[in-house]
Amino acid sequence: MKYNFLLYLFTLSFFLNTFAQETDIKSVKSHLEYLSSDDLNGRLTGTKGIDKAAAYIAKYFKSIGIKPYYESYRDTFYLKKQTVAYNVIGQIEGNDPLLKNEPLIIGAHYDHIGNSKAIEGDSIANGANDNASGTVAVMQLAKALIDTKPKRPILFVLFDAEEQGLLGSKYLAEKLKSEDVNPYVIFNIEMVGVAMRDKPQQAYLTGFEKSNFADIFNGYADQKAVIFLQQAKEYHLFKRSDNYPFFQSFEIPAHSVSTFDFTNYSYYHHVDDEAPLLNPEHIQSLVDLWAEPLLKIANHSEKLIKLNN
Ligand SMILES: [Zn+2]
Repeated sequence: MKYNFLLYLFTLSFFLNTFAQETDIKSVKSHLEYLSSDDLNGRLTGTKGIDKAAAYIAKYFKSIGIKPYYESYRDTFYLKKQTVAYNVIGQIEGNDPLLKNEPLIIGAHYDHIGNSKAIEGDSIANGANDNASGTVAVMQLAKALIDTKPKRPILFVLFDAEEQGLLGSKYLAEKLKSEDVNPYVIFNIEMVGVAMRDKPQQAYLTGFEKSNFADIFNGYADQKAVIFLQQAKEYHLFKRSDNYPFFQSFEIPAHSVSTFDFTNYSYYHHVDDEAPLLNPEHIQSLVDLWAEPLLKIANHSEKLIKLNN
């Protein structure tokens, strides 16, 4: 009888887990489809399309209990004093008062390039892999971590105007600096819609050799979750995404993770960068793998992750 009951509990938890996983994958799919739909017209900074994306992300944060970091989820800035842009920033508050100025920042840019060279009458660059995929990963990480009580604050940041020259991240880095906030680590997510060949569980880390991030993170994950990729170094990807302004402003460990390896996806800044070409299971599997090590980073009061000399 007792064993039957245990078996029942085991089976029940198995089915509940499977159900939760399927629900997560469905959410990934529907977020991707919405954010890269033609209705959003390529999410160019300063357009109605990106305004809709910002509203969607903010509404989602609110629905899962992620609070705005500033008064509103949107933190507004201007390009050349005329084009309006906004980073979307949510947070889980930290519960250690000594660490409240040293947040972990999990980010991704949510803007894209709008239109591109027309093919068969389609000129909308939908930006599904670049970077609806990273945006959705941030949204799913927020959901995965919402019921935790981390010591450090965790900021979930969707950057605007990355495609205009990392302007959203430059703006936020300078703003946080002026507010005496000193982020501990930046974990920025770029193009994670398709798995790397032969490395389905892994992502590469830009600026790999700049800090001991990979050592600590992989230790927390108990596997080689983030790896070195030669092309990332050759193409200076470290300097080409929203992690970089934080490295410049604060001299802290600031990296991007990606699974776009230059061989697994042919539609970079292309009108065919669309949701059906991406793998929602892959995105969710990264989220499942990353949530716990990220929480451990947020929970460690010592700054174990450091720049290398
Ligand atoms: Zn990008």
